[in-house]
Amino acid sequence: MRELESFKHIISSPQKVVITTHHKPDADALGSCLAMSNFLIKLGHEVQVITPSDYPSFLHWMKGNEDVINFEDRSKRAEAIGIIQKATMIFCLDFSCPKRMQDMQSWVESSNAYKVNIDHHQDPKDFADFRYWSTSAAATCELIYELIVAIGHRDLIDKDIAECLYAGIMTDTGGFRHPNTTKNVHLITAELIGIGADNSKISRLIYDTNSVNRLKFIGFAITRRLTIMQDLQTAYFAISKKDLRKYSSQTGDTEGLVNYALSLDGIKIAALFTEREDGIKISFRSTEDIAVNKFAASYFDGGGHKNASGGKSQLTLLETTEKFETLIKENYNSLFIQSELLHEKN
Ligand code: 5GP
Ligand code: MN
Repeated sequence: MRELESFKHIISSPQKVVITTHHKPDADALGSCLAMSNFLIKLGHEVQVITPSDYPSFLHWMKGNEDVINFEDRSKRAEAIGIIQKATMIFCLDFSCPKRMQDMQSWVESSNAYKVNIDHHQDPKDFADFRYWSTSAAATCELIYELIVAIGHRDLIDKDIAECLYAGIMTDTGGFRHPNTTKNVHLITAELIGIGADNSKISRLIYDTNSVNRLKFIGFAITRRLTIMQDLQTAYFAISKKDLRKYSSQTGDTEGLVNYALSLDGIKIAALFTEREDGIKISFRSTEDIAVNKFAASYFDGGGHKNASGGKSQLTLLETTEKFETLIKENYNSLFIQSELLHEKN
């Protein structure tokens, strides 16, 4: 592939590299950035990871975390812009739609640096010079492993890089439970464990590390903030700013909450509405062939994967959940019946 050759050629001489990802990075986003960063540093490049926002503290163990610049940190903004402007290469990882960089978007777009986009989301925008993209990959970390192997540098993947990659693959497959958990996923994670990734340590750090506040918050959300529409096979959480304040919520505390709604017997669509400073952030999850990414794109300015997507709303929390309920009723046939028909055909 010609683009791969040009990418290989460019990284064969020292570059000033900026690596970024989407707003509120998850483990796949941050794991991709830090795996790529640690790898490029080994190749002799000057590398800076800049994230459009902060991210959960249960990801802070990854190697290189201390050097990450958070673009929302006002005291670092000027430095970050300077680094973007001087960059000769910019890596955009785990997103395909530049909007998801939020405040960083215009700075990255106005740069003349050689841009690389590595991602596994649907409908990519064509903004990069080199795109390594596949929706059949479960995680961007899976693609990064493949790319490093494809350019002949597997030997540079050490324990630290392997652990960043493992974390992204583990979380984007829901702990190896979602239908995207392919044979390839297991083959790659087996390689990563072989290189030294401590799989049980990583799952403990990510899944089994809670503050008392977070545990109480989850209990509160399940008992007081869960609406179940059993007839419509739908359940959702609505969390207000006040709720978040009451439990001193930190970034990452709502992570995974939506899965409790989806785990209910008979529920096939779940949503989480969280009231943030800049509007309502929405997470959608579904089972089987129900495409919540299309629903998110049509009605909530969002997108993502078929069974896990997100969006936003500028209405109030109550108006947003009312809109959601109405839309689920109106679209029930196309969301559910179509997917059942598809199932019968398969
Ligand atoms: P989460 O609910 O965990 O925030 O996101 C689930 C999936 O949807 C992720 O793959 C994420 O990248 C995608 N996603 C979340 N929010 C948005 C959004 O506002 N726009 C788009 N296009 N995708 C989103
Ligand atoms: Mn991902």
